[in-house]
Amino acid sequence: MTMQRVCLLGATGSIGVSTLDVIARHPDRYELFALSAHSRIDELAAQCLQFRPRYAVLPDAAAAQTLRERLAGSGVEVLSGAAALAEVAAHAEVDTVMAAIVGAAGLAPCLAAARAGKRLLLANKEALVVGGALFMAAVKEGGATLLPIDSEHSAIFQCLPEDRSTWARRIDHIVLTASGGPFRSRDPASLSNVTPDEACAHPNWVMGRKISVDSATMMNKALEVIEARWLFDLQPEQVRVVLHPQSIIHSMVVCRDHSVLAQLGTPDMRVPIAYGLAWPERIESGAEQLDFMRLGTLSFEPADERRYPGLPLAWAALRGPEGGTAVLNAANEVAVAAFLAGTIRFDQIHSVNAHTFERTPLGSGAAGSLAGLLSLDAEARSVARQHLKALS
Ligand code: NAD
Ligand code: MG
Repeated sequence: MTMQRVCLLGATGSIGVSTLDVIARHPDRYELFALSAHSRIDELAAQCLQFRPRYAVLPDAAAAQTLRERLAGSGVEVLSGAAALAEVAAHAEVDTVMAAIVGAAGLAPCLAAARAGKRLLLANKEALVVGGALFMAAVKEGGATLLPIDSEHSAIFQCLPEDRSTWARRIDHIVLTASGGPFRSRDPASLSNVTPDEACAHPNWVMGRKISVDSATMMNKALEVIEARWLFDLQPEQVRVVLHPQSIIHSMVVCRDHSVLAQLGTPDMRVPIAYGLAWPERIESGAEQLDFMRLGTLSFEPADERRYPGLPLAWAALRGPEGGTAVLNAANEVAVAAFLAGTIRFDQIHSVNAHTFERTPLGSGAAGSLAGLLSLDAEARSVARQHLKALS
């Protein structure tokens, strides 16, 4: 067994911390080459002292200087800026990149890792939702191995054989499970006055604040529908969603013969992370075993579009011209940030998303390059911000 050198982007987040937890259980298999974060310098400094990576990366030069002073004498070199992030992700000595940044900010380093042929563990779903065909082409051209970390997509991946060339013939459709978030049983009319803390109190998973709000609106599932279309090369109608409040079945593949394959487990992200790290092997993850005798009922319901009006936007974006998924993602990032900042109400997130999706001109060819996608992303953010002003 050879040692895997890991570059962990987004080390201080929920996925980053879970990744370090799994890695710490297997010092014989993994060593950290680089750790990156956005702000939390204290946490990043502590992680650097524990794991002693070669590099630590922060976007901001002043923050990097603070960290540099903190880590003096430790042997960890501190870098700053977006280019440094892409450099460590594509570095010749890196085997594995864990992409655990939140939002479209993760796209450029993901593309760099893909083009450099890395083993790319993708938690950062927004990067694939924005990057779409360009992202998948970079994976193919670079000879990268793309391994899904999102629990639903890991579940689908675990239900499929290693040989990708058999997938199209095998899959009738896939079913992504969704917990329904914290407001599944609330009167949709009462959702206008929920607070950010209520929206972030997810019943089954502890996650970063952006994905927690996305789970409450089900925009998270909308992004996952788009993510699944690209990961498994499916038609939009081959991706379906069912509510499953217990979050025990993480998703299912319905085969051509109508046999259904599912992956089950306790809701703990260390399972898909361990699978991504060890694939095609299996290693200890730290997650609890499923106790079937205490499990009780597994139940299923349709996702009500009055409660989750953003969900259908996923299929609309996939059926429309290229670039629509990038617009939808940008709108949602702006809307969620505004909701978390207390600027708009919970139910207005959908208004921002729907308005921006309808009004942002896609322009031809924008989705064909990183620069084009980033300018489309910027254009959609400006349309969304205009709408925020109109709302307030
Ligand atoms: P989080 O907010 O807890 O952590 C985000 C990380 O990204 C932090 O380390 C932060 O410093 C870094 N970051 C944020 N903005 C950045 C920027 N502009 N440039 C560089 N770094 C930046 O988020 P999370 O819950 O860990 O989620 C990370 C990603 O994984 C998201 O795309 C999310 O959708 C996905 N994901 C998370 C979970 C989960 O259980 N938390 C499950 C499935 C998928
Ligand atoms: Mg998920």
